[in-house]
Amino acid sequence: MRATHTPSSPETPLQERVGLLRGEFVDDALEQEFRASTLARVLPQQRIGLVLWAALMLAFVVPDYLALGAAPNFWILAAYRVAFSLLLLAAVEALKRRPALALHGYLLMGLALIGYAFFFLLYELRPDIRAFNTGAIMVLQVMLFLFVPVRVALAVPVALFGALGATLGVWVTTSDASIKAGTAFLVTLPAVLGYVAALRQQAIERHEFLLRRQLLDANQELQNEVARRVALQYELERQASTDLLTGLPNRRALAERFAAESARAQRRSEPLSLAMFDLDHFKRVNDTYGHAGGDAVLRGVGELCIRSFRGVDVAARVGGEEFAVLLPGADAQQAGAVMQRFTALLAAAPATIGDQSVLVTSTVGVAQRQPGEDLDALMARADTALYAGKQAGRNRVVLAPAPG
Ligand code: GH3
Ligand code: MG
Ligand code: MG
Repeated sequence: MRATHTPSSPETPLQERVGLLRGEFVDDALEQEFRASTLARVLPQQRIGLVLWAALMLAFVVPDYLALGAAPNFWILAAYRVAFSLLLLAAVEALKRRPALALHGYLLMGLALIGYAFFFLLYELRPDIRAFNTGAIMVLQVMLFLFVPVRVALAVPVALFGALGATLGVWVTTSDASIKAGTAFLVTLPAVLGYVAALRQQAIERHEFLLRRQLLDANQELQNEVARRVALQYELERQASTDLLTGLPNRRALAERFAAESARAQRRSEPLSLAMFDLDHFKRVNDTYGHAGGDAVLRGVGELCIRSFRGVDVAARVGGEEFAVLLPGADAQQAGAVMQRFTALLAAAPATIGDQSVLVTSTVGVAQRQPGEDLDALMARADTALYAGKQAGRNRVVLAPAPG
């Protein structure tokens, strides 16, 4: 099953679909669909990232202590570290319960704001590591864009907050103008670079998504078309091998079944017989009841065939009122007995034409297939027996003698 989506229109260039400054699909439904498709990849990344972040926050308690001892500044920082780590772990738990949180980006951006504030505080409480602190914020500015990949636009205000906060933090803790200006530049540049890189990355990912989806669509259409054609071919084959009036197999279908049955009979050294039957004095039926009346009788004969013969037997309509029955496993005597029963049934089952009932009889010729004998030769021998039956007075079954 495929998720429903707005149909892709190949006439719209791919570039137009992704907003230039946001790096997201302009079409909201499409954007949501894209984000949902990234969930399986994004969710574990975010969870691992948050756990690592919490671990780092806690680990730096040690250098804080080594630098500050048990001074009040140390305790302020340690409290912030512990509280924020707990918050990060709570976010991991929240992502576990509501994975969709990973997709709109608000959770991570909120955490980033709190995380940045900690570094601003560090300028005040740990002036000894000011350069290191600025470096850490630079790294954060890049990670902001690279590790929260789904929402570039959301990361922009957070990065601005980071740049402003760092600049302010340096501004109030130093009087050196070059350090102030340098810090402002250093924390802004990685944000700009990260933003540009993330925009490109996002556009590429979305274009790939569209291409993949178009490919899936095309593949689906192709599969539908193949299924339609297979069904059509099946129906054509069925029509080509079925007699329209009676619904019985036609001569073509009989030939196919004969080929299969004669091969099987040969393989297993089993007998195979063919009976041909022709309705007696059928012209009279037509003359009396009209062509439509004759057709009704033919349909009745077809129904009787379907009811009377075994599943392995093949009763086919091979001419106007001529029928053939292929009887696998039956020798001439057995086939003759089967056909004897059939003619008796037919002779006793009146066909109804309007409100009249009509009795028809048939004359049957039966021939057992000889090794190597093809359908035409076998039919000709059965036909000869049939003709002999007509000569002898009709409504009877005649067995063809084995050739030679
Ligand atoms: P016989 O006992 O010698 O077979 O006599 P018959 O009248 O049945 O002679 P024959 O088999 O030669 O004639 C077949 C007749 O069947 C001729 C034709 O008008 C009629 N017929 C052939 N096809 C159809 C058909 O599809 N529908 C109808 N109603 N009649 C058909
Ligand atoms: Mg005939
Ligand atoms: Mg006839």
